Amino acid sequence: MFDLNALMRTNIRALKPYSSARSEFVGVAEVYLDANENAFGSPAGAGMNRYPDPFQSALKLRLGEMLRICSDQIFVGNGSDEAIDLLFRIFCEPGRDEVIICPPTYGMYRVSADINDVAVREVGLTGGFQLDVPTIMMSISDRTKLIFVCSPNNPTGNVMDFDSMVELARDFDGIVVVDEAYIHFSGSHTMAAELRNLPNLVVLQTFSKAWGMAGVRVGIAVASVSIIELMNRIKPPYNLSSLAQDAVLTALKDPDRIEKWTAEAVKERERMALALTRTECIEGVYPSDANFLLVRANDADAVYRFLINKKIVVRDRSKVQLCEGCLRITIGTHSENDRLIAALEEFDSIKRASE
Ligand SMILES: *Cc1c(COP(=O)(O)O)cnc(C)c1O
Repeated sequence: MFDLNALMRTNIRALKPYSSARSEFVGVAEVYLDANENAFGSPAGAGMNRYPDPFQSALKLRLGEMLRICSDQIFVGNGSDEAIDLLFRIFCEPGRDEVIICPPTYGMYRVSADINDVAVREVGLTGGFQLDVPTIMMSISDRTKLIFVCSPNNPTGNVMDFDSMVELARDFDGIVVVDEAYIHFSGSHTMAAELRNLPNLVVLQTFSKAWGMAGVRVGIAVASVSIIELMNRIKPPYNLSSLAQDAVLTALKDPDRIEKWTAEAVKERERMALALTRTECIEGVYPSDANFLLVRANDADAVYRFLINKKIVVRDRSKVQLCEGCLRITIGTHSENDRLIAALEEFDSIKRASE
């Protein structure tokens, strides 16, 4: 049985959160002398002398409309990396508890575990880059608090089988975190629709990829009201700057623009998959539901260095389990992608000439 109270750390259960000026007085006043701000103004722009809304109420209202979910089921953080770290701090007793990750996958899950001194059990993806549910279930101990699933997965690019994720959440008494950083590039629906049936599910999304705001640092977690309440309780009170909140509110006014870019990235991805298949130095291109392609090169190291010399940088994933010899290539603009293909064709012709 999933029991949130039993699952969380005892110190978190007992925690009395910091009470900020902006949480002790909620409302509109004319004179604010409660937060030791600079009353004269700010060199950073109008209003920047004031602390931001710690509850991000306006932002969550709009996000709730967009995601068709109650705003009290949304946590907004300084990138999804903040949400990941908070989940460790809520649920995992350092030096005692464990989490399960399914490599090859996003590196932050392990780093966050290491920072929090939480043991990581690895259950590799299957040969087809899918979840090995039976082995995951066998690897769960009474100290396993979190299972991280990335779908579409970084760096393999594929979505995980929907029924496997549901099965996992149903059969595990801890928290299943489904990271949907790349969901916008896939044809799949968000797992957030399953929250009604799965009280132990946490869905992560980010404004860093499709939304084009990696520099702004905004990520969100969607979960039950009780889990979100816990995340809000332990977050730094002012974790999202006014600049970041405003930037997202502005972006949300024009979702069509994002949809157009996303559609273009998907179109480019399919064009690139084909073009890359035709080069000799790339032996295989994995199917992708994200804005990148995982490709197998016959000499990943040489291709990587050649591209660097051409001032093109891709991600070398060749030392990663199940990705031996692989490079991860982000989809760029049409002309950037053409430049990459031209460079790979040049690599091929130099190689041919030297044989
Ligand atoms: C890029 C990425 C993120 C985004 O993290 P932010 O902190 O929101 O920028 C999250 N998860 C995965 C799998 C990613 O690849």
